[in-house]
Amino acid sequence: LIDYMTETPSFFSVSPPDVLNFRYRLNIVSIVVVEAEAGKKADGPRIGIMAKPCAEFVAAMWAAWLNGAVAVPLALSYPEAELMHVMTDADISVVVATEEYREILEKVVEKSPGAKLYILPPVVNTHGNEITDTQSLDKLLVEVKNRSLTLSGEEAALIIYTSGTTGRPKGVVHTQAGLGAQVRMLSEAWGYTADDRFLHCLPLHHVHGLINSLLAPLYAGATIDLLPKFSTSGVWQRWRSSYPVSGEVAATPITVFTGVPTIYVRLLQGYETMDAETQKASADAARQLRLMMCGSSALPQPVMDQWESLTGHRLLERYGMTEFGMGLTNPLHGERRPGFVGKPFPGIEIRVDDSDSDVKGVGELLMKSPSMFREYWRQPKVTADNFTEDGYFRTGDTVTIEDGYVKILGRTSVDIIKVGGFKLSALEIEAVLLEHPAIAECAVLGLPDKDYGELMCVVIVPPEAKAAEAAATSEPVLTLKELHKWGADKMAPYKLPQKLLIWESMPRNAMGKVNKKELKKTLLESTS
Ligand code: ATP
Ligand code: MG
Repeated sequence: LIDYMTETPSFFSVSPPDVLNFRYRLNIVSIVVVEAEAGKKADGPRIGIMAKPCAEFVAAMWAAWLNGAVAVPLALSYPEAELMHVMTDADISVVVATEEYREILEKVVEKSPGAKLYILPPVVNTHGNEITDTQSLDKLLVEVKNRSLTLSGEEAALIIYTSGTTGRPKGVVHTQAGLGAQVRMLSEAWGYTADDRFLHCLPLHHVHGLINSLLAPLYAGATIDLLPKFSTSGVWQRWRSSYPVSGEVAATPITVFTGVPTIYVRLLQGYETMDAETQKASADAARQLRLMMCGSSALPQPVMDQWESLTGHRLLERYGMTEFGMGLTNPLHGERRPGFVGKPFPGIEIRVDDSDSDVKGVGELLMKSPSMFREYWRQPKVTADNFTEDGYFRTGDTVTIEDGYVKILGRTSVDIIKVGGFKLSALEIEAVLLEHPAIAECAVLGLPDKDYGELMCVVIVPPEAKAAEAAATSEPVLTLKELHKWGADKMAPYKLPQKLLIWESMPRNAMGKVNKKELKKTLLESTS
């Protein structure tokens, strides 16, 4: 069982290098009791956690770790079948969740022999009131010691399921030592300190939300404002709240923000809808942060440029994967190169395997890192297949390197399109197409073609105003002919898409990624 005690302030340790901080004033008084598995120093039992970003989530994770269990964050968007897959695959014995997930989890747990569901009581403050927003959560922050969490050893601490972009989601096992290496590496490279305050608005079943923006800041002793869900108004409002124009009490300023590219796109769109006074206050507030970062998928340059001219922040783009957390980063100080994801973090070794490639220096990114996952959960063959003989992990991403800066050309399986004799990068073509005024979002992919091997197809979503204009005149927003004319001096003719589809919205997962494998399937089904 997990419960919170609010009368006595509980203290968790604050000092790096070995300790993660937990500064919410709540205490886990009783513990998850599960039979330990027989055998040698085995991994602990698996505890599934399903909650929006909130103090309850953090409490559940800490409870799991303090008791030697393995935390398995569950994606909130998982339908029942997907939850069932994870329950069975990870062999989860207890699921800890907030009330809103009771219904779906009761069904899943019922079908999982021996599994138990525990609904977390809401976190309450010292007056016994439920904490519902970040503002009041703020009041719970205290300096703490006594319940420190040390991460070391090869036992599993965390299983994160991959996004399933290239197949069935795989359980990625991170050890305690690996997690420790990750949080240390990130806080050092990005200068996280106890003076930082993060605004967190990402899902917690993915490394970006869980490690970069929750565990690493806690390790550094920083404070986090958790937004249960991303909203443009919520983010802009929180930034502005530190610098109120009228006589309101100012909140503590946010210093660090990290998001996926779609978040920045939405924030820019939200900015457009504000009145002039709010726009000014918003841009001024955003300028005050010390660091803004972006990753999880390619950051289009127009977005990077617009963000910089609005807020003065040149977004720090970095690259990572469920399997090793973060791997490459643009520098905190120094040149942040648009279109590139930077250089390896200290301690990471990379190599490009161009043995299968026609172009020297263009090939699969291989990586060796102290933060590397231990294995795909109970899939020894898949694990072995993804490492080279000399211990490098095969990322499955095609890259090229200039001046030490790595450029991601895309996933070898879906983003490298073979048209005629050429291998083209969907990401590079998308980056150019996004400069077209009628294209707000786009996804380039290859469809099978009997003459050319693959035929390049682009799905575009026009900006709202353009779509409305087109609807009023019954003219298409953009034709293939117009696109080719526009692109003639920007790209070689064979790089221009041969098929154009105009959609109202782009299908994206919780991390804002387009699942191209799914998209391809949809397109093939609709054309067959
Ligand atoms: P699955 O492994 O189940 O197919 P997935 O690879 O999408 O899913 P993640 O581990 O969430 O699962 O995503 C990692 C991938 O995201 C990387 O391999 C890379 O293709 C992409 N990626 C991450 N950061 C960036 C970035 N800054 N630019 C371009 N691509 C990125
Ligand atoms: Mg992957």
